[in-house]
Amino acid sequence: MTTVTTAEAQAAILARFARLTGESVPLAEAVGRVLGEGIAAPAPVPPFTNSAMDGYAVRAADTMGATTAAPVRLAVTGTIIAGSGVTLVEVGRAVRIMTGAPLPDGADAVIPVEATNGGTDIVALASPVAPGANVRRAGSDLPAGAVALIAGTRVTPGAVAVLASLGVARVPVVRRPRVAVLSTGNELVPPGVAPGPGQIADANGPLLAALVAQWGGEPVPLGIAPDDPAAVRRILAEAAGVDFVVTSGGASVGLFDVMRPLLADEGAAVFTRVRMRPGQPCAFGAIDGVPLLALPGNPGAAFVTFHVLARPALARMLGLSPELPPLVPARTRSDIGGRGDRDTYLRARLFATAQGWEVDTALPQGAGHLPALAAADALVLLPTSVARYAAGDAVGALLLHIP
Ligand code: AMP
Ligand code: MG
Repeated sequence: MTTVTTAEAQAAILARFARLTGESVPLAEAVGRVLGEGIAAPAPVPPFTNSAMDGYAVRAADTMGATTAAPVRLAVTGTIIAGSGVTLVEVGRAVRIMTGAPLPDGADAVIPVEATNGGTDIVALASPVAPGANVRRAGSDLPAGAVALIAGTRVTPGAVAVLASLGVARVPVVRRPRVAVLSTGNELVPPGVAPGPGQIADANGPLLAALVAQWGGEPVPLGIAPDDPAAVRRILAEAAGVDFVVTSGGASVGLFDVMRPLLADEGAAVFTRVRMRPGQPCAFGAIDGVPLLALPGNPGAAFVTFHVLARPALARMLGLSPELPPLVPARTRSDIGGRGDRDTYLRARLFATAQGWEVDTALPQGAGHLPALAAADALVLLPTSVARYAAGDAVGALLLHIP
């Protein structure tokens, strides 16, 4: 039996994974994926010099000395709307221009319509304008060839807009890690099936599949296995082509616990216990060359151990950084005590206040308590090295919904 610290468990797991290969998806399906390659701008952004305001394109030199008392008057020789071609601004003249329209040759500034009398034949300007004012230069956001997005970037809606502006119709992304999810336990029935005497619904299967999807993987549900090593072995053998197997239940030292002995018998156990709470009965190894993480059966423990131990594996396969879930500084509203011999993770609610994040750990902390999982926004870490926190102390919170 190999017992490791949380940090050792995370390192041992990370060591077994590498970034996956890439694939390309249509832009409309790219949000939430991770870029497998950097994206360079094939052409300058913006592509042509254009107006940032509705107003008048002018030569700045022609506006020198304009005041309210002595406005400069320029003849208006035309109108350019967004989407039209380039014209010319001659010396001493102005062209009406709309936001996004190409700046006419000769012009070097735009006077916002609000700073004029809005004239259609002749425009009066009450103040001068500096060269370059209200003009978006070609390539000022990104010169041609500049890197717009680096590999490992999570495609957010903002990144979708950048990709669209660059004309990227198919996006090179990292393949989604295929993660098999298996629940073990004779007492389990699938959701929707009425439990008989002594039976309960499988909560962990749907929980872990949802967590896999939330953190960028593609869940491969394997259903429920009885507490029988041969049955577990058979089901796993059928799960071909997965990158990772996550099981729940049977990872402890109970008479019928199958996962830990299975890993140990295969000689493939890297560790079989982690000094964390909840989640001590947690084993990691490989079966048929596929990394397998056996999580505890109690849903609260499965939930915490997934966030602490499985998330880093998904992050590495996706090429995301940081790989370990970061701890966000927060103040605790409640006193927190622990056992002192292991890292303790408390399910907590998170509050945004004017003074920053606050966390409240006054949720039921029992490893089997399901409603607390739905209420939690964060896991507050009481590290082994800290005996206790008092209300008001700074703590580290692992956010459950934000990477
Ligand atoms: P185990 O780790 O197998 O000893 O299970 C610990 C506790 O978690 C027991 O009360 C199990 O009934 C419960 N449990 C195990 N697997 C699941 C599951 N998939 N869904 C809900 N509860 C479970
Ligand atoms: Mg069990």
